[in-house]
Amino acid sequence: MQFRLTVLPGDGIGPEVMEEAIRVLHTVGERFHHHFDLHNGLIGGIAIDREGAALSSETIEMCRRSNAVLLGAVGGPKWDDPQAPVHPEDGLLSLRKGLKLFANLRPVKVFPTLVNCTTLKPDVIRGVDLVVVRELTGGLYFGKPKKQWTTARGRKAVDSMLYSEQEIERIARVGFELARTRRKKLASVDKANVLQSSRLWRQVVTELASEYPDVHLDHVLVDACAMRLIQRPTDFDVIVTENTFGDILTDEASMLAGSMGMLPSASLAGVPRSGKRTFGLYEPIHGSAPKRAGQDMANPIATILSVAMMLRHSLALEQEASLIETAVSRVLEEGYRTYDIMEDGKQRVGTKEMGELITARL
Ligand code: NAD
Repeated sequence: MQFRLTVLPGDGIGPEVMEEAIRVLHTVGERFHHHFDLHNGLIGGIAIDREGAALSSETIEMCRRSNAVLLGAVGGPKWDDPQAPVHPEDGLLSLRKGLKLFANLRPVKVFPTLVNCTTLKPDVIRGVDLVVVRELTGGLYFGKPKKQWTTARGRKAVDSMLYSEQEIERIARVGFELARTRRKKLASVDKANVLQSSRLWRQVVTELASEYPDVHLDHVLVDACAMRLIQRPTDFDVIVTENTFGDILTDEASMLAGSMGMLPSASLAGVPRSGKRTFGLYEPIHGSAPKRAGQDMANPIATILSVAMMLRHSLALEQEASLIETAVSRVLEEGYRTYDIMEDGKQRVGTKEMGELITARL
């Protein structure tokens, strides 16, 4: 099969981890006789320097003409000035908006060989395998009114947690469909004891559940979810939630895996269904780690696992995706580690060697 992909390596360690991810992608292509037609573009600081914008309209157009987009990371001290008219992160926002990405998927899988890499007890995190589905386009971050004003008694400000039933149904469907392909458990997270938008959320999710009788649905309050995530994270399979709650819970959940260098993510423009292709953007959850850039130190696994997610959700190549995940597990079981997941008695390797080891196991 032939696929057209846009690759945006970005800044800092972005290009280094992307090189290894592309190595893995091409090897999968050779093994399964797929051709990946790659188109490189600029995003973030490098795009500001060379094109005067964090993401040019030509690059967005290139993304739209692709089956999927792979992104490294953006940002760095050079572009940190808060007074600057444009920032590297503007490119990420333009991508989300320009590509109509509404569902952010962040899987957190703790590899058995890495249970000692986190701050939590091994017994708590052993077996963790969950996905947080976060709504990306609505809620507090975008709802109107959104303003600050001055009154005779001082300043006031308001943000609005606004959701329509269509927005809730669309993201809940992503949660149900994903749960169907996994352990068939969905936790819908809200704050229905206090918030009107959460009451609507709960009603819509409950109504939709009748279409998914095979999926076990739980409603969990966001505060309880935050506790359970570190107390009994293995309870969770798929979690679906609105934008702000998701922003916080995804960061909390990422700590279960020990290093940001291990975690991939996807942002989708449609509901993923098995065997169907859904357009999406795939990226590691980490940033550009400028202090590690150019030193062959960064862990490329998050980006390599993002390639696996892309094959699964945007190209409907499940077997190829699983092969990459298995290769990553094997290399970890054999004891190879980048600095961020290093332990006594293991073999430390750099970015390139880690990429080569995984490629060799495909
Ligand atoms: P960061 O994710 O870049 O780094 C946080 C910590 O994790 C650092 O200690 C870093 O060395 C380490 N780390 C990150 N990725 C790693 C990897 N693959 N392997 C090994 N170690 C890794 O976050 P930060 O330091 O807060 O931000 C650095 C820059 O990245 C900033 O300019 C920030 O705005 C930007 N950023 C970009 C994104 C993105 O592109 N999506 C996300 C977050 C931050």
